[in-house]
Amino acid sequence: MDEKLVEQALEAYLKKENHKKERANKEAQKKLEKTLKEITTEIFASFLLAKNASRHCLSCGSVKLRVPERGIISRDEVDGETGEPVIHRYVKFYKLGQSTRNTLSDYEYRVICLNCGHTSLYRSRNVVRWHEQQKRAIQGDNAE
Ligand SMILES: [Zn+2]
Repeated sequence: MDEKLVEQALEAYLKKENHKKERANKEAQKKLEKTLKEITTEIFASFLLAKNASRHCLSCGSVKLRVPERGIISRDEVDGETGEPVIHRYVKFYKLGQSTRNTLSDYEYRVICLNCGHTSLYRSRNVVRWHEQQKRAIQGDNAE
């Protein structure tokens, strides 16, 4: 084999490996986002309550706090009464600025003060883990 053929073969191999890696990354990202999107404003509010988090802005003391939300239209779910597609609402999540990793610890949920703009950050991992514990507890109750 001459040098050029070896080079080409190596290049093709690396390209294939990179492609595989990219696809695995994308799948992991999708799975992670699905988990993050399970947290609705109600679940997040229950979490904050359970953890005894402050209900006042830590900067100005205002009680006018807001949790940014997002919504997606469900593809396979329609409202039984209206026949309209169901919109699934969830707490908007943010990726930490510098992070290139894709774990729950690299995302956060936010609470924003409508008076002064002070923003509190909650690591997604804590919220998701708490939610999973709650789900397990409910399943345990039902099993009895
Ligand atoms: Zn404030």
